[in-house]
Amino acid sequence: MSAEIHAHERVTDPTVHPSDALMKVPSFGPLEDAPCGLCGGADSRLLVVQHWFGEDFRVVQCTTCGMIRTNPRPSPEWKASFYDPRCNGLAETVGRDFVYAPAADRLPSYARLLRFILDFVPRGKRLIDVGAASCVFAGMARDAGLEAVACDYSSDALAHGAEHYKVETLQSPAEAIAAPDASFDVVTIFHTIEHLPAPLEVLRELHRILKPGGMVFLETPNYTLHALIQTRLRFLMPVYRFLTKKPLGLPWVPFDHYYHWTPRHLCDALERAGFRQARARHIFGYRSNTKPNVLFWSAYMVYDVLAQLIYLATFRRYDLRLVLLATAVK
Ligand SMILES: [Zn+2]
Repeated sequence: MSAEIHAHERVTDPTVHPSDALMKVPSFGPLEDAPCGLCGGADSRLLVVQHWFGEDFRVVQCTTCGMIRTNPRPSPEWKASFYDPRCNGLAETVGRDFVYAPAADRLPSYARLLRFILDFVPRGKRLIDVGAASCVFAGMARDAGLEAVACDYSSDALAHGAEHYKVETLQSPAEAIAAPDASFDVVTIFHTIEHLPAPLEVLRELHRILKPGGMVFLETPNYTLHALIQTRLRFLMPVYRFLTKKPLGLPWVPFDHYYHWTPRHLCDALERAGFRQARARHIFGYRSNTKPNVLFWSAYMVYDVLAQLIYLATFRRYDLRLVLLATAVK
């Protein structure tokens, strides 16, 4: 297992040269230009250019609303092929189970998230996990007494989930979920929204399938610290490069993350989509799809505690915690 994990860490390390990576990244083809997905504004200012897999990507900030996005960005066709395990080579390299099954040390972190949700949602309610991937979370929710459905656009991922976790599955893109209006009490969508080209459309769809009074729980990376370093604290960049040995700079992952969320913009987007009581929170834990090593995990914990202290000491003005959990009510 350790060799497989090492392999996966290598392919997600932005300092790895593409020709040396195990992952087959399909050719990007022509990048597409898109206006701000939050306010529709076309004007932006450049924050940073990053070179990934043979292509330069521009991370820009909307001059109207401040939302940060990758523009221009890879096409939906590229995205579909990149996520297809038959194309990206991960399945054949590290095994199909490794692609979908989460590292065991992430499970307590998911359990913590589930416990938080169960404080709001009584058992027996109907939950849909959008962007379910491995379906592990839907399986945990089902085991905790919720009526859980795993939704993903990948039939391959859902087949794996149905086989391993025996969960009810629904194959749909997040923008057009094949479910009637007001058919769920809870929607969860974890580490998915940043990958999607039309976030507001997705949030409106989540709003549509929720019953009145239903809740959405959305987790995504918080890019506030990235933006701060890239603008006002640029002097920290050499320190970051020295400590992480990553010459590319901060992990914007611009070829895969189309939108780079902050608490303000996430709450704004939820309210534009029709939700109320939008609030950005943070549940401690690392839920990425790479197994962190001990050094990374320790640094992450120290940072998380520091960021929490900064958040409280500034009366919730500076939220530099690396992962956001937004909650909102229909
Ligand atoms: Zn905007």
